[in-house]
Amino acid sequence: TDLDPETREMIERRKALLGPAYRLFYDKPLHLVRGEGAWLFDQEDNAYLDAYNNVTSIGHCHPKVVEAIATQAGILATNTRYIHGSILDYAERLLNTMPDEIGHMMFTCTGSDANDLAVRIAQAYTGGLGIVVTETAYHGITQSVSEFSPSLGANVDLGPHVRTVPAPDAYRQGEDMAANFAAAVEAAFADLKRHGIKPALFICDGIFASDGVFDGPRGFLKGAVDAAHAAGAVYIADEVQSGFGRTGDALWGFQRHDVVPDLVTMGKPMGNGYPVAGVAVRPELVEEFGRKARYFNTFGGNAVAIAAATAVLDVIEGEGLTENAREIGAYLQDGIRARAEAHPCIGDVRGAGLFLGVEIVSDRAAKTPDAAATSVIVNGLREERVLISACSKTHNVLKIRPPLVFTRENADQFLAAFDRVLARIK
Ligand code: PMP
Repeated sequence: TDLDPETREMIERRKALLGPAYRLFYDKPLHLVRGEGAWLFDQEDNAYLDAYNNVTSIGHCHPKVVEAIATQAGILATNTRYIHGSILDYAERLLNTMPDEIGHMMFTCTGSDANDLAVRIAQAYTGGLGIVVTETAYHGITQSVSEFSPSLGANVDLGPHVRTVPAPDAYRQGEDMAANFAAAVEAAFADLKRHGIKPALFICDGIFASDGVFDGPRGFLKGAVDAAHAAGAVYIADEVQSGFGRTGDALWGFQRHDVVPDLVTMGKPMGNGYPVAGVAVRPELVEEFGRKARYFNTFGGNAVAIAAATAVLDVIEGEGLTENAREIGAYLQDGIRARAEAHPCIGDVRGAGLFLGVEIVSDRAAKTPDAAATSVIVNGLREERVLISACSKTHNVLKIRPPLVFTRENADQFLAAFDRVLARIK
């Protein structure tokens, strides 16, 4: 490849120092040195439009978050075994955004850590072990969570207590999808019971991100959640990707469906880059759990984490970023859909707010996934200095997930680059 010698040397050092489990994005990996708003800059100060990173969801290095972190780090940085007011104010504020049934907030450092805790609580409450997930789900990296994260790869074994169901694919299943999805969840729990495994939980993320970004139709999730409850399992809404305004009409992805989760896990954009994550839970689920064992997470909910998270919520509310996600997301989605007429490789354009999926196919009538063309588009956009990635079981869905501060001008910049790349692959 045409990598410069410095980049090539850094890739070699990574391999030598970090070992074989790490992966880089893109055929031509990027060396980034700073970020600002929706932009990232490489070592030569070239600007890249970030249409992918949902950790820095309110924009890279947002000055209010940077200031909040720095100020609190200079005052006090300690843990939840001392009384501190800000964690209470923040928990109260966050719980006010949730359905009334959810009454406690517990803090962790990562999304994996949050899902791990949520599963422990769910299994303790139900007395069961059985878990149902979608077949390309990703929920994290701890031992317990990797056992129900099939998208980690074919070489990662799912647990014997885990069953998968096909993704809720309305593009291919049409109006039958919701009923199919509910029936699959019901059958998966029935299969667990037949094998002597008591149901514990159904977990899905609010927009089925790694499955291929399946946003709708609105309300389709209810049947699956009812099926989980009927089997004696609880429902965990994984909002690590879809939370904090991204889906455009509410703070949480599950709110697009008529459902009330038993537990909600969150992370990624919660601190805009500072590691802070957590679990919101119905009080009755954690009552006995809390009586039996203490919960302490050294860094989870520390004063600096809470300062970052508070500033993020201030910015989302103060700058109207949920509304912006809805508005600019619709504009971007319409713009991509308008390209489908001239480009038969665009099979489906979907998503909610600033979380879009574009299905790339080799035969539009047969809806044949085209992973090769998808990779050409992702890498072509990278050459155009626009960053996205791909997802789904068949690796043919463009995953477009810009920061919530994306402007109409940024959307136009994206579409202009998209046009240049589509013209090349035609
Ligand atoms: N759940 C979902 C839906 C995720 O996308 C991720 C991270 N990609 C996680 C959980 C795990 O979060 P973390 O990487 O912070 O452990």
